[in-house]
Amino acid sequence: MIIEPKIRGFICTTAHPEGCFENIRRQADYAKAHPVKGARKALIIGASAGYGLASRICAAFGCGADTLGVIFDKPASGGRTASAGWYNTAAFERLAAKEGLYAATINGDAFSREVKEQALERIRRDMGKVDLVLYSLAAPRRTLPDGTVCSSVLKTVGEAYTNRTIDLKRRELAEVSISPASEQEIADTVRVMGGEDWGDWIKALAEAGVLAENAITAAYSYIGPEMTHPIYMEGSIGRAKEDLYQTSRRIGESFPHLRAYISVNKALVTQSSSAIPIVPLYISILYRVMKQMGLHEGCIEQMSRLFNERLYAPNLLLDERGCIRLDDWEMRPDVQAKVNEIWERIDNENLEQLADIDGYWEDFYQMFGFHIPGVDYEKEADPAVSIPSIG
Ligand code: NAD
Repeated sequence: MIIEPKIRGFICTTAHPEGCFENIRRQADYAKAHPVKGARKALIIGASAGYGLASRICAAFGCGADTLGVIFDKPASGGRTASAGWYNTAAFERLAAKEGLYAATINGDAFSREVKEQALERIRRDMGKVDLVLYSLAAPRRTLPDGTVCSSVLKTVGEAYTNRTIDLKRRELAEVSISPASEQEIADTVRVMGGEDWGDWIKALAEAGVLAENAITAAYSYIGPEMTHPIYMEGSIGRAKEDLYQTSRRIGESFPHLRAYISVNKALVTQSSSAIPIVPLYISILYRVMKQMGLHEGCIEQMSRLFNERLYAPNLLLDERGCIRLDDWEMRPDVQAKVNEIWERIDNENLEQLADIDGYWEDFYQMFGFHIPGVDYEKEADPAVSIPSIG
């Protein structure tokens, strides 16, 4: 069939298998061009999109590691395409096989005990022990063992907050008010996006004896500038990220042979970040500024720096809280001064010049395998693609 993008709200309900393949091939080429001696056997939780996918690509194609990925994606069915994450993973496994690398994937709910058991089984059978565990879940909800469903909300804590955002479809500025989360909503957001599940994974791996001596584990966070603090760092998601940070400390204390880190990454267009109010306007201004200054990076460049210049570099630079900072270029005073100056004077007249709306949309389409140079979108594409290790 001819596959076209169908955008509904913050997501695209279709994905293009060949576009996704090409996207992964390009990221794999980038990782191959930036090799580093590091991970040998890696488990990546949340491995089919965004930062988790780029991490898996760096582990495999940058370090030559065997990888096990945990994803939560849908294959094609009844005239519907598969999810982008499904096609990304199929492409990843095919490219890994060409390089002679082991790559297996478990498709299921990473929060569940069952998926953890499946992962342990696979590691024991095929990998022995893992020396790198990356936790990159961005999930809207979590089902607890007793069947209770907790949802993550993007709300403020305390007072409501009003600021400008961008209506990307209409390409115009809009005002948005974000209401405060209730105590229950905050607690639920912490259960979904906080550190509990990361801690459960590490405990399960340690108890099963499948963590290599001196293994590394990391989870990802975001801090960002003041204008985003009420909705992010000081909001319900910020509470969850604080919990994630506390978990990294607890993991470090409980498992002395494991190094646990939080990596604070750059704001980028991903399926999760496009759903956060205010952030898309900030990102489109940031993209304009960082591209003009020659500092722009995507997920693969960020994760390549994580591997090459942080995790496997001779001296690991950490901030005063002990976090890895990959948002160092984003948070540079000269970058933030320029973003602030634009934020103050942006209006509907100058929006197209001052914000990189096209760049935002290009990243958005490319996440779903569209607008990738070299792909013929007029050609029929077969949506039924299998992930080799799943079938
Ligand atoms: P993403 O939406 O691109 O990827 C999330 C991944 O998690 C996907 O592979 C998805 O399939 C998987 N997933 C979701 N629920 C799952 C479940 N129940 N079981 C198994 N897999 C599941 O998100 P992202 O933006 O790459 O975010 C990853 C991490 O990076 C998050 O912790 C996020 O807060 C952090 N981060 C993101 C940004 C940003 O700007 N995007 C910046 C800094 C940090």
